[in-house]
Amino acid sequence: MKRDATISLQFLGAARHVTGSKHLLALGQSRVLLDCGLVQGPRRIADQQNRNLPLEARALDAVVLSHAHIDHSGALPRLVAQGFRGSIWCTEATRDLLRLMLMDSAHIQAQDARHLRRRGHDVEPLYDVEDVERTLGLVRAVPYHRPFPVVPGLRVEFLDAGHILGSAIVVMDCEVAHRRRRIVFTGDYGRKNLPILRDPEPLPECDALITESTYGDRQHEDRVDMVAELARIVAEEQRDGGRIVVPAFAVGRTQSVVMFLGQLMRDGTLPRLPIWVDSPMSRDATRVIAAHAELFDAETRALLRSGHDPLFFDGVRYVGDVEESKALNQERTGVIVSASGMCESGRVLHHLSQSLGRREDCVLLVGFQAHGTLGRRLLDGQQYVNLLGEPHTVRCKVRSMPGFSAHADWAELLAASRPLAARCRQVFVVHGEDEPAMAYAARLRDAGFPEVVVPEKHEIVEVR
Ligand SMILES: [Zn+2]
Repeated sequence: MKRDATISLQFLGAARHVTGSKHLLALGQSRVLLDCGLVQGPRRIADQQNRNLPLEARALDAVVLSHAHIDHSGALPRLVAQGFRGSIWCTEATRDLLRLMLMDSAHIQAQDARHLRRRGHDVEPLYDVEDVERTLGLVRAVPYHRPFPVVPGLRVEFLDAGHILGSAIVVMDCEVAHRRRRIVFTGDYGRKNLPILRDPEPLPECDALITESTYGDRQHEDRVDMVAELARIVAEEQRDGGRIVVPAFAVGRTQSVVMFLGQLMRDGTLPRLPIWVDSPMSRDATRVIAAHAELFDAETRALLRSGHDPLFFDGVRYVGDVEESKALNQERTGVIVSASGMCESGRVLHHLSQSLGRREDCVLLVGFQAHGTLGRRLLDGQQYVNLLGEPHTVRCKVRSMPGFSAHADWAELLAASRPLAARCRQVFVVHGEDEPAMAYAARLRDAGFPEVVVPEKHEIVEVR
């Protein structure tokens, strides 16, 4: 990239794709990376991309992190292992979640590497616990609504994105050679009325907008329907005498499912039923979230004041040790919420291996399922899938509730973006697979945005 008085962006990940979020902002002599996410998907492709990061770590001045999800943060220790020594800026809740996410990621990689070495592959983990510790040492946490300098000519402010706890809209005020430009990055933009979280803040006016487009071609059912739908699915399982396995990201979806089930049991819609949250990471993340009540929405704070805990209540059990997790094989009813959300790793695989073949059981998909993941194959209705190296026939019910998503759908995103059209000269549509990204770009053009680009990976554009 040229080193001069221009302001430019290079899209290094999550360009026509939903994982591996990485966007490089160059202004004057400075280089700032927005997000440093792990690429997820088939191992051969993902591993190669995560190992060889598409930028020079030592030449980078700082990282600004939108939120703690691993597809936005998970390559940070790799960046540090490759020589990055600048600051990593994020909100305080993101900092607390980041420790869990990165430690967990390091453990998963060590496990995978051991597993592959036993099969004769010469594999090193992408990074280890020490790299994670070094990474955490570079983190500088800042509250929402407090602008801070990142490099000469760049001030950043975090606004609440309402996507997961600590998630931020990143507002970047740039000044190079007396030219001022405001760039806004939506990060992962949340939705109104998500459990626990405050609603996303409006997007501020800007010259250039970098917007996500995960659901750029879809609309979600609304929350009331969703709670009713969840009640219906659970009641169906109780009639069939089976259990429900919910693959869910440890941060966000897990707590939403637990909170909705708690609500349905409190108001008497559902009888008491056992809920297991089987992932040490989900348990720890739930604790971190519970410790940030200052960021909860009014509804959740009122619930707490009335003496109800939305996340820790009678009937929900957070499973820590492996023996207790294995013992869940004996449980034929109830709800097991377990990571990972796209069924790529983690304890959920063991629960799926038990349940996939049983007609009375149900797999409930509550998150986005990227192409190439086991979750996507189940969602697409494949009858035969490989799981933990064994072929399985899918006989159980597979249900999907995309309404659980913590991403705005296209109508919600457009409603948040439309007021910007008068001033915003350029929009860059990222964090969406081809079709949703293209569909959303077309809607932005219809809404009056003069220039809307769906950048290719590695594409460099000048912010005019
Ligand atoms: Zn996210």
